[in-house]
Amino acid sequence: MKRQWVFAFEEGDGKNKMLLGGKGANLCEMTQIGLNVPPGFVITTDACLAFLEKDRLPEGALDQTLAHMKALEKKTGKTFGGADNPLLVSVRSGSSMSMPGMMDTVLNLGLNQTTLKGLIALTGNPRFGYDAWRRFIQLFGKIALGIGDEHFDAAMASIKARYGASQDVDLKAEHLAELATEFLAIVARHTGKPFPEDPYQQLEIAIGAVFRSWNGKRAIDYRRQFKITKEMASGTAVNVVTMVFGNMGSDSGTGVGFTRNPGTGENLIYGEYLVNAQGEDVVAGIRTPKAIAEMEQEMPEIYRQLQELHARLEAHYAEVQDFEFTIEKGRLYCLQTRNGKMNARAMLRTSVEMYREGLITREKALMRIDPTLLEQMLAPQLAADFKGKPLATGLPASPGAASGKIVFDADSAEERGQAGERIILVREETKPEDIHGFFQAQGILTSRGGKTSHAAVVARGMGKPCVSGCEAIIIDDVARRAVIGETTLHEGDVITIDGSNGKVYAGEVPTVEAEFSEDMATLLGWADEVARLKVMANADTPDDAARARKFGAMGIGLCRTERMFNSSDRLPIVQEMILAETVEERQAALDRLLPIQRADFKGIFKAMKGLPVTVRLLDPPMHEFLPTTAQLELEIAHLHHMRDSIKAMEELPETLKLLSPRLYQQYSDGLGKLSVSMKAFKDGHLEEDAIHKKEKILKKVRALSEVNPMLGHRGVRLGITYPEIYMMQIQAILEAAALCAKEGTEVHPEIMVPQVATVEELCRIHSYVKRLHKVVELTHGIKVDVKFGSMLEVVRACLRAGRMAEDAEFFSFGTNDLTQATFSFSREDAENKFLPSYISEEILLDNPFEVLDQKGVGELMKLAVSEGRKTRPDLKVGICGEHGGHPGSIQFCHSIGLTYVSCSGPRVPIARLAAAQAQLLETGGAVTKNA
Ligand code: PEP
Ligand code: MG
Repeated sequence: MKRQWVFAFEEGDGKNKMLLGGKGANLCEMTQIGLNVPPGFVITTDACLAFLEKDRLPEGALDQTLAHMKALEKKTGKTFGGADNPLLVSVRSGSSMSMPGMMDTVLNLGLNQTTLKGLIALTGNPRFGYDAWRRFIQLFGKIALGIGDEHFDAAMASIKARYGASQDVDLKAEHLAELATEFLAIVARHTGKPFPEDPYQQLEIAIGAVFRSWNGKRAIDYRRQFKITKEMASGTAVNVVTMVFGNMGSDSGTGVGFTRNPGTGENLIYGEYLVNAQGEDVVAGIRTPKAIAEMEQEMPEIYRQLQELHARLEAHYAEVQDFEFTIEKGRLYCLQTRNGKMNARAMLRTSVEMYREGLITREKALMRIDPTLLEQMLAPQLAADFKGKPLATGLPASPGAASGKIVFDADSAEERGQAGERIILVREETKPEDIHGFFQAQGILTSRGGKTSHAAVVARGMGKPCVSGCEAIIIDDVARRAVIGETTLHEGDVITIDGSNGKVYAGEVPTVEAEFSEDMATLLGWADEVARLKVMANADTPDDAARARKFGAMGIGLCRTERMFNSSDRLPIVQEMILAETVEERQAALDRLLPIQRADFKGIFKAMKGLPVTVRLLDPPMHEFLPTTAQLELEIAHLHHMRDSIKAMEELPETLKLLSPRLYQQYSDGLGKLSVSMKAFKDGHLEEDAIHKKEKILKKVRALSEVNPMLGHRGVRLGITYPEIYMMQIQAILEAAALCAKEGTEVHPEIMVPQVATVEELCRIHSYVKRLHKVVELTHGIKVDVKFGSMLEVVRACLRAGRMAEDAEFFSFGTNDLTQATFSFSREDAENKFLPSYISEEILLDNPFEVLDQKGVGELMKLAVSEGRKTRPDLKVGICGEHGGHPGSIQFCHSIGLTYVSCSGPRVPIARLAAAQAQLLETGGAVTKNA
């Protein structure tokens, strides 16, 4: 049977986006549900792949296309290339994943000298005809023939200047005719051939060009950035659609809209339109469009049709739609629809409201939000009471605030951003080829274009702040400066933009954390009801703990006690403990640390009242609490130098006497005083003592120095060799718990041992805990509920999990170390040296320190869970490495039956949603409540 490469909109399967692309599938689906879509057909992504392989259309594809063109002529009553009632088409790209503006589209195809006359005769509107003709020559020239826009733009600018036209619409028919003739000359000059007049030849060339744009630089960059794999999208389809014209007079127009506001989620059509214009005018920001709300007055009948379209689209797709429309002589056509990309705030609000409106189920409300999107809501905002005067105000195109240095082009943004600078990309308007600059910028500011301009749409999709259409800024990207009124900003100057209200400020404006909204609380409440995994936080201080709790943490899964040791009031005591020569000296330092640690734990337990708090005993090697050898050597050298200087000053009177007795006489008074104070200083032995102390520390630092400290004397190994350190910490935890319990605060401390490799290590520490537990309960006369467990971050511990579980009541995978151990990679060295090339060479698909390596580390985890639970069926198992906040890794943790994930406070909302989604994915959408 002949392979089908082409599908009419009436026959294509609207669900098959892989084959028809998202746009094509939707055009088919919209046609089939009776929406007013211009007739057309789709050439499949398979045809694209075949084309790219051989650089020509596969056998049968052209014949099928021609047959569909004939059918289109029949449906529309028009003739392709005909002189009387010419059929014109658009040739549009569209892959299975939305890649806005990344690939090419040609409009008005089929125009030539003959059809142009037909079009003018038919419409009686020469201006319209020549306008369509010059647009087609430029677009075809650019996309199919590779001629840069600047050649056409220059011709347009000079025509406008010649006839005193300030806008494109001010040009008359004869001016546009003249422009088209110049455009034809540009094409002939660049290609050495006349512009192709044969519409079928135009069609074949355009289809090839659109197929090729799949492998264009910006499309490739976009796929790489958004990790769009071949499995997600492979090739672009081509949609051949009958042209409808928005530029046929004042009863025509064009626009783009969202069924709900993509910035706030409000249930009101949000978008912009232009009367008497064609689609690209809106997106390119050439004319400033009007808000759809104005249409109610200006074109009430069209506004009614738009409301109807809104209702039908949402009822059918059960999702917010981002659609394009054209009005041709009073009739509304829907040209495209796709699921609307929204920011986090809008996603949350629409999830909650669409559920309440009965449009979607709760499960859909949870599943439709990408958990990482929530991070945006927790992004910084300008303080509400900030009263600074803005330099200018543009359109609030994508919310959030950002500060950074101005750069005027995408390449510099990429370069400086990659070098670690914070950048705001400032342009008149942006184009798809600027995409690499967006990736590196903190925010985007444009002087032209509306809220649906390229800059606005792309920034919103990326969750980056954007202010667009800020007309007060005059940008001179050649001189690399921007002028706003009296102020001149140069490249490198810092500005702050607030994409929530469109304001632009000079300098860096302080930001505050975002609020946890009511919609987020509602949705995450639903998530908690669905999820099986609990979500804990990694938090080390009472403040962190309180914040994590606000984000919905169900306990603390990792409290790293070394963070407490590092604060400036404790460090000297910790150093005393390390430098101690005898057990007694060490104990004396520990005795001073005990009440401090106890108070720390009390603070955290209180903040987490009623919830479990897992405290990890000291983990890092001791040298981390001491200065480095290099620093000490420098300080000692400095002190020696000072000692020599003092000596020189002491000798100054004698030196002066030798040099000049007269000078000596002159300064003798002062020199006398100086000698006295020098002697006093010397007798104080200050520098001697300092040198002695630092030399002692240096000796210790050298003694503690290890070839490979991460695999050295740390974690439980410290606890075994210096039992008094762990004893102090265990005692502080248990006493803090006892004191809280006495005060009526419900606490659930859990003591966790890091770096365990052997069962014997764990047993030893367990014996300390048991002993001190008894002592504390007796001393305080109160029962203390405590659990004892082990981190699993050493490969051997995973292999011995069955036996470990005899002592451990819980396990927590420290996947940061476990990943290092499994790969035998040191994280810093890997990330700084070879991991980037491993990833670009696709030896590894992701950085395993960010995305859990399921095939390696994951296998060890699976083994440990299953062996551990054989010994202790109710064994609680969690993860506290950074992967605990990564949605894909959370799904894996769910699948292997972990009890909880633990991540940093701000990631807790993400993890809660990801945990619910993991459950919903497993059950195929059916909710089993808190199983
Ligand atoms: C881990 O190794 O995953 C862990 C949580 O410990 P740290 O990051 O403190 O080494
Ligand atoms: Mg670790």
